[in-house]
Amino acid sequence: MTGRIGVIGGGQLGRMLALDAKRMGYHVSVLDPQEHSPCGQVADEQIVAAYDDLGAIERLGRMSDIVTYEFENIAIGAVEHLERTGHQVTPSSGVLRTTQDRLAEKRFVRECGIPTVDFEAIERLEDIARAAMTIGFPAVMKTSHGGYDGKGQWRVEGMASARAAFAQARGKTLIFERFVSFKQELSVIATRDARDAVITYPVCENSHDNGILTMTIAPARISEAVARRAREAAVTIGRRLRIVGTYCVEFFLTENDELLVNEIAPRPHNSGHYTMDVTPCSQYEQHVRAICELPLSPPHMLANAVMCNILGDGSGDRLGGIAELLADPSIVLHVYGKRHAAPRRKMGHFTMVVDGAVDDAVVARAQAAHRLLFWTASS
Ligand code: AMP
Repeated sequence: MTGRIGVIGGGQLGRMLALDAKRMGYHVSVLDPQEHSPCGQVADEQIVAAYDDLGAIERLGRMSDIVTYEFENIAIGAVEHLERTGHQVTPSSGVLRTTQDRLAEKRFVRECGIPTVDFEAIERLEDIARAAMTIGFPAVMKTSHGGYDGKGQWRVEGMASARAAFAQARGKTLIFERFVSFKQELSVIATRDARDAVITYPVCENSHDNGILTMTIAPARISEAVARRAREAAVTIGRRLRIVGTYCVEFFLTENDELLVNEIAPRPHNSGHYTMDVTPCSQYEQHVRAICELPLSPPHMLANAVMCNILGDGSGDRLGGIAELLADPSIVLHVYGKRHAAPRRKMGHFTMVVDGAVDDAVVARAQAAHRLLFWTASS
């Protein structure tokens, strides 16, 4: 049995992965540039180094039987270096090569026969006029590499704002996407193992604020037919990508029930946090099982869930209102151990465990619970 797991990236996803891996008896090492990273606090060891520090990456490789990552914007060269020097990295650099580049990712999804939003590549200023002709406005321009949580993307209404976005991107390749007026944003968390078995959790319904996830409802309030299509698309994508581990496929659902893939994340995902509290085997444990060649677990739900992210707002680093929040016995709180609650930084989340259907009243109860929390300056 594999005994030592190395994790590149020490954020909250790594922390939750490490907590499950530790419970299962694994030794966990993490590499992150920030000392006392959320994952480093619960892992056996942390290497403090940049993600592209090849010496440090190799050290992580030597300390581990298998290396994985919780953050896909790591230097692909570092993963390739590990692979070349005989270390096993899962998911592989090939998976990263497709999912790190929004253009390659959308082309790949279309090759799988699955629809995406219409898009064009923008490399030079002149490309904008062509994209505007074929796609039109409003549109969304995003850097093809490196963006996350709404960073590196601009909603553009016409040529002037598109040129301004191009200037702000400072020469980076961009993707120009049709602005989709979706009725819902959905995601499917799935895990595939090396024997090609794939499990998919029930589809979730996500709300975002300026590109950052705020709430997930599981299962999504959608028809059986849409849920089946979304789960089938996630299985096809996982198999064609030959990913081993937990991954997430995000979708837009349009007014006429068209399901468009927006993004693939080759790692556990924020919208799958709820699996820790309402399923027998979380997305993190499934990832450990997949990369360590253990059988996957059936992804059934013991209850329904509403998950709310807790974001920093810049007014202090101490979270207040916890006692009031936890007066509701259906709430499970997770705090990531980050020192500074910078504006919009993901600091924690809570899951509301729901016995019946998640209706508007339950959503309102979760929103009211969220309003009990506030940030204050440390005393
Ligand atoms: P992304 O980084 O691609 O996941 O985008 C973050 C969020 O921005 C998405 O979850 C949507 O809420 C919004 N968004 C991104 N692309 C589009 C689009 N083409 N049309 C409408 N909204 C979008």
